[in-house]
Amino acid sequence: MTPDPVLDDPVLDIEDVSVHYGEVTALSGVSLRLGTGTVCGLLGTNGSGKSTLFGTTIGLVRPSSGTVRLLGGGVAEARRRAAVAYMPQTEAIDRDFPVGARDVVLTGRYAHMGITRRPRRADRDAVDTALERVGMTGLADRQIGRLSGGQRKRVFLARAIAQDAPLLLLDEPFAGVDRGTQEEMTRVLHELRDDGRTVLVSTHDITGVERLCDRAVLLATRLLADGTPAQVLTPDVLGRVFGFTDAEEVAAP
Ligand code: ADP
Ligand code: MG
Repeated sequence: MTPDPVLDDPVLDIEDVSVHYGEVTALSGVSLRLGTGTVCGLLGTNGSGKSTLFGTTIGLVRPSSGTVRLLGGGVAEARRRAAVAYMPQTEAIDRDFPVGARDVVLTGRYAHMGITRRPRRADRDAVDTALERVGMTGLADRQIGRLSGGQRKRVFLARAIAQDAPLLLLDEPFAGVDRGTQEEMTRVLHELRDDGRTVLVSTHDITGVERLCDRAVLLATRLLADGTPAQVLTPDVLGRVFGFTDAEEVAAP
């Protein structure tokens, strides 16, 4: 039998995870395995549990039952090794805080810097490369609060890239960004995948999913579907889950 890299050596292995917030069931029996070199879309409407799944994967939300393994180890160990980069849906940053785009990206290097947190050449180079990749070199010194929403998303993507982690978790990176930025981010995510990284990217807006993702999973508290974007985004799902009356609208490139 040929070895299956996804089954034998998963980068991310979520097994039968359930999460309850008091009375609310946010996730129920979710299992997901991702191998290297893939962009997987985590699709679902608002409230379907996408952010909770990220929270569980990064160790911020404790599952009521089930397990999460990252690169064959536990969540805490993966975080210590900076092996998982996480771009939250909302940025925990004060927009009036006088910090530039470059400084934000540099925080992605903290785990590499040791306790002194003094950036070395390799850290500065990683920051410059990441800024370049997302097209933010020219605005690197601008205060984070003075950037547009789309530009801030690019900066936080650069932060995740600079961390140089094998697994990237991106929670709604396309929310509030224009079409051009979405296309550029798609190109960057494909480069990361071709580099052998694993990307899990959530979105409640399925425009562009076909182009972006190799694989898609549909979440609605439970995992409803798992396959190629075309297999998952059937006319029935488009209508029933995402409320499209004309499926052609979304399927068109
Ligand atoms: P999504 O990211 O897909 O919009 P979430 O994971 O944010 O979904 O939310 C899933 C469900 O869990 C929703 O019903 C939401 O209201 C609920 N929820 C999320 N976070 C909390 C929390 N901290 N406390 C209580 N309920 C929460
Ligand atoms: Mg969310």
